[in-house]
Amino acid sequence: MTTNVSIIGLGLIGGSLALALKRNPDVVITGFDRSYKSADEAYRRGIIDSVAPSVKAAAKEADFLIFAVPVAATAQLLQEAVSWEMKPTVIVSDTGSTKQPIMSAASGLIDKGITFIGGHPMAGSHKSGISAAIEHLFENAYYVLTPVESCHSGDLERMKTLLTVTQGKLAVLGASEHDQMTAVVSHFPHIIASSLVNLLSYQEQQQPFVRRLAAGGFRDLTRIASADPVMWRDITVQNKEELVGQLDRWLSEMHTVREMLTDNDPSTIQQFFDQAKQFRDNLPSVTKDEAQGALYMQFDLHIDVPDHPGVISEITRILAVKEISLTNIRIVETRTDVYGILVISFRSAAERNNAAQVLEKETEYSMQIL
Ligand code: NAD
Repeated sequence: MTTNVSIIGLGLIGGSLALALKRNPDVVITGFDRSYKSADEAYRRGIIDSVAPSVKAAAKEADFLIFAVPVAATAQLLQEAVSWEMKPTVIVSDTGSTKQPIMSAASGLIDKGITFIGGHPMAGSHKSGISAAIEHLFENAYYVLTPVESCHSGDLERMKTLLTVTQGKLAVLGASEHDQMTAVVSHFPHIIASSLVNLLSYQEQQQPFVRRLAAGGFRDLTRIASADPVMWRDITVQNKEELVGQLDRWLSEMHTVREMLTDNDPSTIQQFFDQAKQFRDNLPSVTKDEAQGALYMQFDLHIDVPDHPGVISEITRILAVKEISLTNIRIVETRTDVYGILVISFRSAAERNNAAQVLEKETEYSMQIL
């Protein structure tokens, strides 16, 4: 039996979801995007089966209607959807990174008897748009579902069954629990990362050379600051309450750190680093279980190469011959806290591990997955 899935918003997430859902031959995907160019590309690449002329037309025949547009647009469309014609059995969902405001925006639909199950696939990339869509984006990443308490268990099962082919790790959470947890592991670190980068840019005005030292640990720690500012603006606006709470806890933590620094007691300072190291070392590791984890990851391979001309082209040639595509390549100029001068990034842990195996076989360089 055919299942009609309509996806509104054909960017990185909507496009990747369409590609993953099409692994099920019984699923037929209708797409809609306010950008005709994106919808057209999705259709031409076979990511969707047809383009709907309007968002309402996409909703009309859907068994599943999934919004993969920015969170502010999702909230707006959910409110408008109350007056749309839809199948009474339709399940409406979204992919937004915040959940409480989305659940509130869906309350009109829920009151009308339509099933709404919030969704957040916790995988992404620093790229956006349909051209960045990939079928395996959600594999091994948590895919959080936030049904309301009154949600029928049969409907939740239908939603889970649809998403099984994404190979994401489905988890059911309350919307507020979700927002508290993502604030601490994702949204708040994003603010800190951007703040650290801003500090560096102020310092650079006095000391231009500092930019050249900002490699290694600084780059790793602040990588997420390169993500799409518009998406993060929306997430920050929507998760304001949690973020203010986190900031208060952070300020109190910084107060303790300040005291520690002024006291300058070596054993307290070591204990501070020890405690964080122990907890950090026990976090789920992408290396161990191939999971994409709670934070959006890129998958880095550090290679200790000698400094002579031709090394980079040798490595990229080997990867090209094996058809392993990389997303980024960089030379680390400061190596006090990282291993290897050359860092190559991949889209998935599988591609990175494959590259490591090939390079280990075909070169003499040592390498490490951190
Ligand atoms: P994207 O910018 O790649 O794609 C969004 C698409 O929505 C674009 O094609 C845009 O034209 C379209 N769009 C915007 N407003 C629209 C409207 N009113 N009607 C129809 N189409 C509209 O963004 P993305 O990264 O795919 O993110 C989509 C959603 O998924 C967001 O809610 C985001 O919070 C969430 N999300 C993103 C990531 C990530 O890392 N990128 C991860 C998990 C969840």
